[in-house]
Amino acid sequence: MKSWRTPRSIKPPFGCEWTAPPATRIFDNVSFIGNVIVGCYVVETGDGFILIDCMEPDDKSRDTIVQGIKDLGLDLHDLKAILISHGHFDHYGQADWFRRNYGCRIYLGREDTVLAKTVALDKWPVIDWEVDEYYEDGGILKFGDLEIMTILTPGHTAGCYSFILPVYDEGRKHMAGMWGGSGLLPDSDPFAYQASLDRFTKLCRDQHVDVELCAHPTLDNGLERHALVRTIVNGVPNPFVIGEAGFAYYMGQYYDLVEQAMRKRGLK
Ligand SMILES: [Zn+2]
Repeated sequence: MKSWRTPRSIKPPFGCEWTAPPATRIFDNVSFIGNVIVGCYVVETGDGFILIDCMEPDDKSRDTIVQGIKDLGLDLHDLKAILISHGHFDHYGQADWFRRNYGCRIYLGREDTVLAKTVALDKWPVIDWEVDEYYEDGGILKFGDLEIMTILTPGHTAGCYSFILPVYDEGRKHMAGMWGGSGLLPDSDPFAYQASLDRFTKLCRDQHVDVELCAHPTLDNGLERHALVRTIVNGVPNPFVIGEAGFAYYMGQYYDLVEQAMRKRGLK
């Protein structure tokens, strides 16, 4: 059957003029701050909060995060850690600025720390700062009451990490999966990407993941769903709770990507 849906936009509109919508509380413990290009997640832990990803390295992105955290009623001095999914500029942003000013710890995969230090992308130079800790594949990071699983998912980049974490929707517990990378770049390894997809989707199935979180709203109608969440009325399901089958369907788009990349490269 031919799809009647709008084709998804794989590439975030880097460099576009943007204004950020208000910071959005999506779950009791998870909020989104960002724009049409990229965003970050604020995860409250019962003992401060962490950020997953950090937007782009420009001052406007940094100020958007600072303002968003304030608007959520949080204090930046309670920022404990920044978990960076992979070593691209639109995810590590100004993580070191937050560390210098608020003393948080920075996490990134070992291979992608090398990437961020050696390969400049777009207009951004390589990073000149150190991370505090590398992730452990299959490890659990604990912050306050939060336990977040860190899974090495090479493909988009060699050291890309994906996450599984509990989220609460007015007290109801769900499990969220966040795929760390999206498109396949010229230097992405499609075979590694596919193997990572298989492994991550299986882990998500085992963990009964029924919520999808994504750093790039162009991939999942994120901004539109945030707008809905900001005005949602009691009794209407949270649009980020998509069910276990829905999560598997959502991950299908990444299988499509890798399939397209393989065909394009004559590998299939
Ligand atoms: Zn990337």
